[in-house]
Amino acid sequence: MNYQDSFRDKELVQGLARRIAELTRGRKKPLVFMEVCGTHTMAIYQYGLRSLLPPEVKLISGPGCPVCVTPNGYLDRAIALSRLPDLTITTFGDMLRVPGSSSSLMEERAKGADIRVVYSPLDAVRIAAANPAKRVVFLGVGFETTAPTVAGSILAAKAQGLSNYFVLASHKTMPQPMAILSADPDLSVDGYICPAHVSAIIGADAYRFLCAEYQVPCVVTGFEPTDVMQGVEMLARQALQGESRVEIQYSRVVRWEGNAKAQGLLAEVFTPFDAPWRGIGVLPGSGLRIADAYGEFDAELALPVQVEELKEHQGCLCGEILKGKVAPGDCPLFGGKCTPESPVGACMVSSEGTCAAAFKYGR
Ligand code: SF4
Repeated sequence: MNYQDSFRDKELVQGLARRIAELTRGRKKPLVFMEVCGTHTMAIYQYGLRSLLPPEVKLISGPGCPVCVTPNGYLDRAIALSRLPDLTITTFGDMLRVPGSSSSLMEERAKGADIRVVYSPLDAVRIAAANPAKRVVFLGVGFETTAPTVAGSILAAKAQGLSNYFVLASHKTMPQPMAILSADPDLSVDGYICPAHVSAIIGADAYRFLCAEYQVPCVVTGFEPTDVMQGVEMLARQALQGESRVEIQYSRVVRWEGNAKAQGLLAEVFTPFDAPWRGIGVLPGSGLRIADAYGEFDAELALPVQVEELKEHQGCLCGEILKGKVAPGDCPLFGGKCTPESPVGACMVSSEGTCAAAFKYGR
């Protein structure tokens, strides 16, 4: 058995499931734990972990998919930019098929827009350097995990003296929506499976305020089946004992203080702002916009464009799904009018979307 396989060992996973069942046996009201990371959502569906848990424990998905929480208005601006002459849009592949108000980047590309998939923002900087007559815009979408690499691309463009590289930034930070969801009387979350990659950057200390203000246990958890099941067991123990602490299950990667170098990059290039989240609304201080000192790289400032009037997708429940209030199967469009081949909402497009995960593994 190799190192990674040991975290997928069936007997270990089943043993953890038995321990969780013994801990929670006879409980009248199920313990509700929310994962706020799309990679956790995928792992939970892929390995069928919900089916291993007793009825006394319920897992719900939250706003952990960066593409899904990006509102239509951002897509509409990216699409409007893609229609400008001598402009190249560069993006991670997930964004291509996300529907905006009336089009998508995929449709615009089919009509002739220069839209290229890249694997790193530094690829976009290279494209800008090789094409000085073109304006190159990178779509900066993602949480604290992705944002440092985008910050690095802006610093690289500055160091190279490029004046044709821009970022359309829609980065978001995770603790703020967790606070909003913790205060929501309709949800009653008993604990958070905290994101692993985000926590590697911001550190587990970032969740302490949730425990203090909302008395909700937090466990930073890895992505393998034994990680998730152990994280659930740790949450259940805290919840049953009436405790609310931050614990690190994923100690092979995450530290209390996080990654100081990445945090330094974020502080240098970005500044917090009140960001809009799909389905959740505008949350104070929950986004990262490009700081004034780097304003020349901000596509929103440097490349003004007329953006179409915002339209939401009729019948799509993505907003409620991102708050954990409904499951994909509650959406009347799920698997019928809305499939990965023909998605109505972002949650069905992204590889980390809850609807996509349920369609692929959960039906
Ligand atoms: Fe939206 Fe489709 Fe999910 Fe329904 S199934 S909530 S339409 S993405």
